[in-house]
Amino acid sequence: MKKIAVLGITGSIGQQTLEVVLEHSDQFMIVALSAGHNIALLKEILLKCQPELVCLALPTDAFQLKKLYPKLRFVSGESGLIEVATYRKIDLVVNALVGYIGLKPTLAAINAHVDVALANKETLVVGGKYVKEAIKKAGVKLLPIDSEHSAIFQALQGNQVTAINKLIITASGGSLRDKSRDELSLVTKAQALKHPNWSMGAKITIDSATMMNKGLEVIEAHWLFDQDFDNIEVLMHPESIVHSMIEYVDGAIIAQLGSPDMRIPIQYALTYPQRCVSHQNKFLDLSMIGQLNFTKPDFKRYPLLALAYHVGRMQGNLPVIMNAANEEAVHLFLRDQISFLQIEELVMNACSNIPYVKDINLEDIDHYDAIAREYVLKEGASK
Ligand code: MG
Repeated sequence: MKKIAVLGITGSIGQQTLEVVLEHSDQFMIVALSAGHNIALLKEILLKCQPELVCLALPTDAFQLKKLYPKLRFVSGESGLIEVATYRKIDLVVNALVGYIGLKPTLAAINAHVDVALANKETLVVGGKYVKEAIKKAGVKLLPIDSEHSAIFQALQGNQVTAINKLIITASGGSLRDKSRDELSLVTKAQALKHPNWSMGAKITIDSATMMNKGLEVIEAHWLFDQDFDNIEVLMHPESIVHSMIEYVDGAIIAQLGSPDMRIPIQYALTYPQRCVSHQNKFLDLSMIGQLNFTKPDFKRYPLLALAYHVGRMQGNLPVIMNAANEEAVHLFLRDQISFLQIEELVMNACSNIPYVKDINLEDIDHYDAIAREYVLKEGASK
């Protein structure tokens, strides 16, 4: 029995992880988990699985719930997330948190010699270098859950990283892909939140619409698979059937295909290196799809994708600034405080106006993260 901790159980990936675990309850059990503020959903989840340790965002919520569930241990905040990620009984932690908040629990799990299944891409964007160093030292596994990176990981089985010519990451283009730049200035939150293929959380759906998500994934791929940015290509693929590909040095391309169903990459991360039967995951009938299309992305249409390549190559404090600025700008948009195009504007301005520092260390990340958030909140308030 593999014992699992899930960070972010009430989010989209967290809930789908629970579905995978419940379908394979002979193999997996969740012994520790974290939830943010959605207490009603957490209560439903606690009817389906019986963890020993639960972390909540707020200490007041933890205190209230302790009265209802006296047998469970409740913790809260960042230290609580770290407790869940390093809980002594676990074999694997699924990090399904959203945003930079995922970095410290990831590092804590690795340093405690726990394997990590990672859906939290911001962790690698901001702290990829430190995560890789820690992985090497601890000798644990880092298993990607992001569908593109799971696809590359699957296409890599039986092959050498050194035989990779390039990675080809596919992109659906998100909810606003058929709109021109002019039309984008008028889009509403509801339009932006309607992804054509995937059902995901709010932050990542907006990131998909701006293609910041694909930019974050390019940086994530750089760290996961040791590839230069010149060897990572993005292709627009509106059907979201080919989840990504590897072109090898002999000209062969290996792709992973499937329905856009996150339970497939989640399950593979849990069962790796095995595969097991699923009756709930969606299966694909290629004859119903008929046609698969691929085109090159328009970097002028998606300036945040271009920015991410630049930021990835420059490193230093820029990935931290870009990520933090984006997290805050998306929050402002979701709170109806800025327009859709102002997300891009704020992120680009933060990256060009906050002074670039080449050499930073792990302890500096919090500092630049805070500066970028402050910058966006200040400039966003004047919009
Ligand atoms: Mg993805």
